[in-house]
Amino acid sequence: MSYDQELLRRAIGLAATARDKGEPPFGSLLAGPDGTVLAEEHNTSIGDRDITAHPELKLARWAARELDPATAAATTMYTSCQPCGMCAGAIARSGLGRVVYALSGEQLASLQPPGTGFTEAPAEGPALFDEARVPVEGYYT
Ligand SMILES: [Zn+2]
Repeated sequence: MSYDQELLRRAIGLAATARDKGEPPFGSLLAGPDGTVLAEEHNTSIGDRDITAHPELKLARWAARELDPATAAATTMYTSCQPCGMCAGAIARSGLGRVVYALSGEQLASLQPPGTGFTEAPAEGPALFDEARVPVEGYYT
C-alpha cells in the first residue's frame, strides 16, 4: 500500500466520522513534505450552519493563515472526495502544492439522487467598467 493510499484511507475515515456525527460525509487532511499530518478536518456544514464548512476549505484557510508560502507549496491535501468549485478556488489561493482525492465529483454524483449537486447562480456582467475600475486601478502595482 502506498503512503498516498494510507493517507487517503485516513481522509475516508474522517468522512465516516463526519457521517457518524450527522454531518455530510467528507473528510480531508493536510500532510507536510515528509508525510506528517499537519491538520485534518471533516465537513461541519450542518452543525456550524455554515454552507462553507467543507473540510478542504477549512484546511486551505488554515494553511494560508499558518504556513509560509514555501511550506504550503510543499504540502499535499488528501481528501475523501474531489474538491468542489468553492474549495478548489480556495486551494488555488492558498498555494497548496498537491491534492489527492478518492471519489471524483462524477463518482460522487453517481451516489447521489439526481438533481442533488450544486447548481450555478445565473451571473450577468461585466458592466460599468469605467466606474468599477476606479477602486481597483493601481492597487496591484
Ligand atoms: Zn467544497
